[in-house]
Amino acid sequence: MSNWTLLRHSRCCLSRFKTQRFQKNAPLGSSFSTSDEAQPDNEIPVQAAPPPVQVQLTESSGRGVFATRRISAGELLHTAKPLVSYPSLSTIQSVCYFCLKKVKNSAVDRSPSVAFCSEKCEEQAKSFLGVEGKADWVDFNDYCRSHGLKYPLLVKRFACMVLSGATSADLLDILQPAMLSPRMISEMEEGFDLLKSAFEVAKFPDEKMACILSMAEQWYTGILARIRISAFRIECAGGLYEDLLQAAAASVEAEGAVGNAVYMLPSFYNHDCDPNTHIIWIESADAKLMALRDVEEGEELRICYIDASMDRDARQTFLSQGFGFHCTCLRCMSGD
Ligand SMILES: [Zn+2]
Ligand SMILES: [Zn+2]
Repeated sequence: MSNWTLLRHSRCCLSRFKTQRFQKNAPLGSSFSTSDEAQPDNEIPVQAAPPPVQVQLTESSGRGVFATRRISAGELLHTAKPLVSYPSLSTIQSVCYFCLKKVKNSAVDRSPSVAFCSEKCEEQAKSFLGVEGKADWVDFNDYCRSHGLKYPLLVKRFACMVLSGATSADLLDILQPAMLSPRMISEMEEGFDLLKSAFEVAKFPDEKMACILSMAEQWYTGILARIRISAFRIECAGGLYEDLLQAAAASVEAEGAVGNAVYMLPSFYNHDCDPNTHIIWIESADAKLMALRDVEEGEELRICYIDASMDRDARQTFLSQGFGFHCTCLRCMSGD
């Protein structure tokens, strides 16, 4: 079976060919981490070994991620924690409100509306929940549900994180924004109005109110433009990572999207219809980047943004309409 039949995650609206603010070897942020799982069984894990990847400028596709040494098929390159995540509205009662892990009945669940998989997640959610819990989100959530929108929920989470002081408002600025047409921007108005009025109606201390009142629609659309281009739809494979080295389980056993999340380093990976790298989720929004085949030092690592089992015409249409670029990968050029 070809590798590309295994890939089912998706990203939306990619247009990364014009990178205005690229800084070579850009800082990777705190979401970037290494794992001793990358070590083969017969080797002693090396603590904090740097991952074998580096962000560099590509010739034609803006930023890209490159191998800094030879990498073997099946090797875990690095893990990544989300900068922002949010469950699907349909799974909001059944997955952890922080890490998106499936919540068992016996799990910690002290809140009437959301669940957590552990006290640790509940603790980490306290900051943004302190803001979110003061406002009424019925209208905003209804708007997202009725329009089938998921990204405004990530903006809501991000806004609550910023207002709580847990993160800075420019956290996502390094990410490439999608090109938004005037029509797309006008369609975002309703979401912005609902988000802002939810905050305005809630009772916050004066300094938070000042921050909320200064929230501009431009801020909202700017965040949404970045989230649209960088968000990953998360389908957890379940099972053990070791099982996934045989690859097929990664998507075959997936049970549908548990939510969406934005990462730092994973968002720098470019697309290929026959990728050498795979992004997977085992049981939570913590992502793992895995080499699908042997990779040479200096080679660019690429993931597939779409369902790679589609035929060439379908892939081209999807990438062009949804992601804003014409794919010229070797597989597409060969007509496959
Ligand atoms: Zn959790
Ligand atoms: Zn292609």
